[in-house]
Amino acid sequence: MKVGIYPGSFDPITLGHLDVIIRASGLVDQLIIGVLKNTAKKPLFTAEERVKLIELAIKDIPDLPPVKVEAFDGLLVNFAKEKNASIIVRGLRAITDFEYELQIAQTNHKLNPAIDTVFFTTSVEYSYLSSSAVREIASFGGDIQKFVPECIVQSIYDKYKSLRSV
Ligand code: ADP
Repeated sequence: MKVGIYPGSFDPITLGHLDVIIRASGLVDQLIIGVLKNTAKKPLFTAEERVKLIELAIKDIPDLPPVKVEAFDGLLVNFAKEKNASIIVRGLRAITDFEYELQIAQTNHKLNPAIDTVFFTTSVEYSYLSSSAVREIASFGGDIQKFVPECIVQSIYDKYKSLRSV
């Protein structure tokens, strides 16, 4: 059984991520979305919240092959080994992603030669899209409906509302 891991912060999941999930899930028998707990930046949503939002976002996708969502911390190659994964999935939006992604992919391959990284080039309609842009727009009450799955829009506004009230 071919297992792939799609790791990231997903803070929050966007339509760009969803597009990669749908395309990558057809490539493996089991896709695991790995939600990074120990992200360098202080996340808007906790890892558990990010897992829930992803689960909600993929719930109603018709004919989606088996996809699991799990939070993890520590080294990605260790998580991959624990899950018997041989493929790491990443997305490439622009040339600016490339240098960083190449370095990480080569490092991971060196750490565990049994694991290869597969890149999905972004679908053009999402090439500009990032979680940080979504956070910025939502923090000012802007319209994020075109950027994230509809079912999680309100959770993002609610998060900023709860942050403002503390
Ligand atoms: P990280 O903090 O690890 O970069 P992200 O949640 O920002 O995590 O992204 C996870 C993965 O999804 C990365 O490989 C990133 O390049 C990819 N990705 C992010 N946004 C898009 C998009 N709009 N289209 C395609 N891939 C994307």
